[in-house]
Amino acid sequence: MTNVKTFFSKHTLICLLIILLSSCEKDVIMVPDWCTEGTLTALINDEGIDDMVKNIIYEKPQGYRIPVDGVKKIIVIPYFTPGEFEYNTAVTSTLIEHNFFTVGTGSIRDYFLENSWGQFDITKGQISAPASLPQFLSTYGSEVPSKDPSRNISLAYDICSNSTINWALFDTNGDKIITAEEVQICLMEPTGGSGATRYYSFQVNNPSTGEVFTVQNYFVFFGCKSNTDPNKLTDPISFNFSTIWHELCHGMFGLPDRYAAYCSDGNTGRYDIMSNNCNWMHMNIYDKMKLGWIHPKILATTISRFGTSPQCIQIPAVESGKSAFILYDPKFPDEYWMVENRNKASSKYNFEKGLDDEGLIIWWIDLTETAPEKIVHLVSSKDWGKNPKSYTYKVGDPGSLMFKGKEGLEFGTVTLANSSGGLSLVIRKLSPSSKIMFGEF
Ligand SMILES: [Zn+2]
Repeated sequence: MTNVKTFFSKHTLICLLIILLSSCEKDVIMVPDWCTEGTLTALINDEGIDDMVKNIIYEKPQGYRIPVDGVKKIIVIPYFTPGEFEYNTAVTSTLIEHNFFTVGTGSIRDYFLENSWGQFDITKGQISAPASLPQFLSTYGSEVPSKDPSRNISLAYDICSNSTINWALFDTNGDKIITAEEVQICLMEPTGGSGATRYYSFQVNNPSTGEVFTVQNYFVFFGCKSNTDPNKLTDPISFNFSTIWHELCHGMFGLPDRYAAYCSDGNTGRYDIMSNNCNWMHMNIYDKMKLGWIHPKILATTISRFGTSPQCIQIPAVESGKSAFILYDPKFPDEYWMVENRNKASSKYNFEKGLDDEGLIIWWIDLTETAPEKIVHLVSSKDWGKNPKSYTYKVGDPGSLMFKGKEGLEFGTVTLANSSGGLSLVIRKLSPSSKIMFGEF
C-alpha cells in the first residue's frame, strides 16, 4: 500500500515538474524581457527642447566643410617613379572610374551615398593619364625632415605638372585658382598602401594651352598595389578603400584624425573611420550630424524628466535609414549623448564589415573640448558607469557596443554618469543586437 502511494506521489511530482518546466520555456519564448513597442527615433517629440540648444548641437563646427549642393567633383591622378616604383598597369582608367564613381557596385561613391543617405555625391571630374615623375619617391622623402614624401610640396607639384588634367575645366568662378570648393584632388601612389592629406598652393601650366593656374587645395594621397606585388591584379585599388574613405573625409569635409595609434586607438575606438582607417566601417553619427545629413531628435535624460516614466525607443540601423537620437540633460548643457544602432547586414555593400560587433553605440559628446579630435568619446562597455572624463578606450579592449546578452549587459541595463560625477541616465530593457533595436530611455 505504502509503496504504491509513494510511487504515485513521485510520479505526480515528476509530471507536475515536466508541466511546469515546459510552460516556463513557453513563457521565455513568448514574452521578451526587453521593450518592444517603442517610438521611432525620427518620431521622438523634442518640442520641449529649446531651439538654442538644438542650434548648438546641430551647428557645423569650425573646420568642417561640405559643399552646399552636396556634390563634389573629384580629380584622380595616378603617378609612378620610373626605376623605383613602376606603374601597375592593372590600374587602368576604367578601373579607377569603376572603383570611384560607378553607382551600385560598392564604389567609393556608394560609400558616401550610403553614409549620407543619398545627400552627398561624388562625381567624376577627370582621371589623368599616369604621371611619370622626374625623381624617386625616396628623394622627395629625403628632402623633408619626417622622410614622408607627401610632406614635400615638390611631390604634389611634380604630379600635377606631369598630369593630363585640364585645370580650366575646374575653375568654375574664373579666378584662375583651383580651390577645395571647386574640386577634390586625389594623388594615387604606386607604393602599395598608405595615405595622407596635405594642403598646398602652387602654380601649374595647363598641359594643352600653357595657361597658368594656382592650385590651392587639399591633396589626398593614397596607395594602389605596387607593380611588384604578386597579387597586383586582384583589387589593386579597393584593397585600400578604408584608407581612401578616411583620407577623403579629411580632404572633402575637414574631419579630424581620432586615432592615438593607427587603426583603432583613441577616443572613438574601433568604430569610426577617422580612428580606424584599416577596417571597413561607417563615419560616426556625430560627423554625419555636423555635416548636416541628419538632425537627430533630442530626448531629455530620464533623470531630468521627473514624474515621466522612461520611454521605449525603436532604433532602426543607421546604415539603411536616417536613425539616431540624442540624450540631453538641460542642467548639464556642456555634454550630451548620441545613440546609433550599427548593424553590418544593414549596409547594402558591406561597408560595416570591419566592425568588431553590432548593437547600440553610445557616444559621449564633450562641448568643453576645443580640439576637434577630443570632442567625441565612445562609451566603452568596460567604462560605462564611470565619469566620462575618465573613459580610457585602448587597443585590444573588447567590443564596446551595447546590447542585451553582451557580457555585463545580461539584464539590458546601462547606467551612465555625467562629467560632474552624478548619475545622468539609466537605459533599461535593452534588446539584443538586431536591425531594429529597442530600449527604455
Ligand atoms: Zn588621417
